[in-house]
Amino acid sequence: MTHAPATDQDPVIELRGVRKSFGELEVLKGIDLAVTRGEVVVIIGPSGGGKSTLLRCVNLLDPISAGQVFLEGEDLTRPQVDLNRIRRRIGMVFQQFNLFPHLTVLGNLTLAPVKLLGLGRQEAERLAGDLLSRVGLADKVDAYPRQLSGGQQQRVAIARALMMSPHVMLFDEVTSALDPELVSEVLDVMRDLARSGMTMLCVTHEMGFARELGDRLVFIDGGVIAEQGRPADVLDDPQQARTQQFLRKVL
Ligand code: ADP
Ligand code: MG
Repeated sequence: MTHAPATDQDPVIELRGVRKSFGELEVLKGIDLAVTRGEVVVIIGPSGGGKSTLLRCVNLLDPISAGQVFLEGEDLTRPQVDLNRIRRRIGMVFQQFNLFPHLTVLGNLTLAPVKLLGLGRQEAERLAGDLLSRVGLADKVDAYPRQLSGGQQQRVAIARALMMSPHVMLFDEVTSALDPELVSEVLDVMRDLARSGMTMLCVTHEMGFARELGDRLVFIDGGVIAEQGRPADVLDDPQQARTQQFLRKVL
């Protein structure tokens, strides 16, 4: 069987009929979702609805039960696929910052590119400096994670993901664990990234972010995409009863 090379017209991410069960519990019940290059897709929905599971299925951190996942036209569900090679094109940032506590900010940023990409140390450190400036933390290069606020740690986590030159970034509620006054500094970094043309799939409760930067808003409930559309349309005029009910609670 031949495998067609990826083209620019391919969606960056495409899920086709993705199902995911944990034992008896079916969490994703057939998700079809294509994200095009440069698109910012925001995912909202009630807790337990399958949003984190969906993000984890994009890079097959968990094996899926049925369906297919494509990254830039490559089928990640083919048995012989080199998942580690493909996963490097996907950056992921979580609610908990997951920095290595025993490494400095610089160490956190340079570890994977030097080990996995074979980047020279000097080049990695130069890139780290550039990215830390971009997230407003050039002066924290030698700090340890425990010396940073939550917002600073999360910005380091974003810079660390960007070190691998990802083709797409996945964000799972990255501001949910932050004190309210620290949320905006992280959203500012995400705004900058979205405007730079990064392809982004973001689970968030920040409806202002969704409205301002989302090209599309996807409402997930009970393991299916219950509604999707332009953020302003979905937020101001939801068509489905369950979307209306959810938005009444969060807006
Ligand atoms: P959300 O991110 O929308 O809150 P999740 O994707 O985290 O939802 O979870 C969806 C459902 O899947 C929940 O019922 C959760 O308990 C269950 N679930 C998630 N991960 C696992 C796991 N590793 N094992 C068993 N059940 C899980
Ligand atoms: Mg979640």
